Amino acid sequence: MLHVAAGVYFNGYSAWWLPACVLALITILALGAIFIRWNFYLNSVNTLPILNVKFDRGQLSVQQRGRRVALSFDDGPANHTAAILDILKRENVPATFFLIGKNIAGNEALVLRMKHEGHSIGNHSFDHGFHFDWQSAAKMEEEIRRTNEAIEALTGTPVKLFRPPYGVTNPNLAKAIRNSGMRSMGWRLRSLDTVAKDKDQLLHKIMSKVRTGDIILLHDRCAITETILPKLIGALKEQGYTFATL
Ligand SMILES: [Zn+2]
Repeated sequence: MLHVAAGVYFNGYSAWWLPACVLALITILALGAIFIRWNFYLNSVNTLPILNVKFDRGQLSVQQRGRRVALSFDDGPANHTAAILDILKRENVPATFFLIGKNIAGNEALVLRMKHEGHSIGNHSFDHGFHFDWQSAAKMEEEIRRTNEAIEALTGTPVKLFRPPYGVTNPNLAKAIRNSGMRSMGWRLRSLDTVAKDKDQLLHKIMSKVRTGDIILLHDRCAITETILPKLIGALKEQGYTFATL
């Protein structure tokens, strides 16, 4: 590369492709960081298994599982967590909550409800700061550890699932997750409920995109998410979906 670059510099070759390659590389690295589903920097679980594979007495059997989805709620415990837990209880639907460590103090009862009402609980960093992804691997590990400790002190159950804040991944996070013995959990269906303005549009968007095996990303800090949840669950049940935890 260097001698080619030097040749370009000294001999005046046409070098349009050099910045083009650099730009393409930067674009790929950036998109790999943003799209957790690409599994570019680390492997994340982005869907539920849709096949049941069994190997019994030398016989391999593969069966399609029924239609199912997983509802996942990030950023709690938050303002709408209690109401969302009420809806899930009424509808008899289990879900997975990815908690921000600093939100736990003062909301211990909500975390205990999640546990006692059959939901899965995962880690979503301690501070969820805007600059989370610019930290060293050691700092990220520290955030993961503090949140795990806060959850485990309440529930008594080890936490194994981690959802990267903003779904952004990079080599430092890959290292922090590996060193912490966590499993990275992504999604396939991003509802964008955090920026949605119209509840009917949000519901329509989710229902028009949903496929079996989807992990659906929602947020229990959003009023609109609480508002649409009963209809969303009703519509999914009507289409024959059952609900899994992660
Ligand atoms: Zn988040």
